[in-house]
Amino acid sequence: MNPSFIKKNIFMLKCIKCNSDLELKNNSIICKTCGEVYKIKQGIPILLPRSIPREKNREIELFLRIIKIILKKNNISKITEKEILKYPTSLNFKHNFLPFIKKKTKILEIGCGALAVSRICHDNETFFTDLSWDLLKYANVDNCFCCDINNLPFKDEVFDCVIGSAVLHHLIDINQGLSEIRRVLKNSGFYLGMNEPIANPAILPFYKFFNPYCKIAIDRGSIENIYTLQEMTQFFKKAEFDINIKLCKNPLYQLLSVFPMRLFHILIRFLPDFLVKSIGGNINIYAKKDKSA
Ligand SMILES: [Zn+2]
Repeated sequence: MNPSFIKKNIFMLKCIKCNSDLELKNNSIICKTCGEVYKIKQGIPILLPRSIPREKNREIELFLRIIKIILKKNNISKITEKEILKYPTSLNFKHNFLPFIKKKTKILEIGCGALAVSRICHDNETFFTDLSWDLLKYANVDNCFCCDINNLPFKDEVFDCVIGSAVLHHLIDINQGLSEIRRVLKNSGFYLGMNEPIANPAILPFYKFFNPYCKIAIDRGSIENIYTLQEMTQFFKKAEFDINIKLCKNPLYQLLSVFPMRLFHILIRFLPDFLVKSIGGNINIYAKKDKSA
C-alpha cells in the first residue's frame, strides 16, 4: 500500500462533517476548519462517521466470513486480479461495462469490498472505497479510502464514472446514496451498476429460495433490499439520471454461479426480456447524469 496517493489527491477530499478542505499532517488527515482528525491505518485513510449502523456491521462480518472462505479454498492470502476474473461479477464487468469506460478517466468504485472489480480498468485513475477497512485490506489495491456512500469524502464533480457491483440494494437509504453519486460525478459523468437484483414482490419468497446467498444474508441480519424494476428506475429518475437497464443473461458468467442460482439463470435465458423483467433477475444499470436537471 503506497500512501503517496493521499498527498497527491488531498485536494479532491473534503471533511464529512463540515465540507471544508483537508490537509495531511503527522500521518493523519485533518480538517482545516473544524479540526476533525481522520486516521490513516496501514496506508488506508478512514473518513467515516463516528458510528455505523448495526446492520452494516453485521453485513461487513458476513462479507469478511465469505472472503476468508474464498482465500482458504484457493490457498491464497490476498485477492488478485487473476483471482477476481474467476467470478461472474468480474466477468460481467469485463464484458458489459469495460467497453464503455474511456481510458485515462477518473473512476470511483463504491462498496468495492475485497473483489474491487474495477481493478481491471488499467489505464484509468481508480479510487476504491468501502465502509469496511478490513475488506479494503483484503482487496489489496492502491488508492483506497474507507468511507460511507451516504457521506462521501470527495468534493463535487470530481469523477468521470462511478462503479458499483451489487451495491445499491445494500443501502439503507438508496436515495441518499444516489444523490451522493450524482454529486461527485462530473456533468458528463455516468454510473455503472452491475448485478443489481430485481424481483416482483409476488415471487420474492421464491427468489430467495433460488438465491441461497440472499437467504443467508437476510438470516444474518444483513441488508438485502430487493426492489422491482419500476422502483429501481424511479430511484434513478428521482436522483436526476437518464437510466438504461439491461438484463444479465450472458450464459458464460451465469453458468459460473452456484446451484440453484445456476438453474435460475439457465431458466431465464430462455424467457423473453419483458417476462424476466416482470419476474425478477439481475440487472446491469447504465445511468448518465441528467445535465438538464
Ligand atoms: Zn471539518
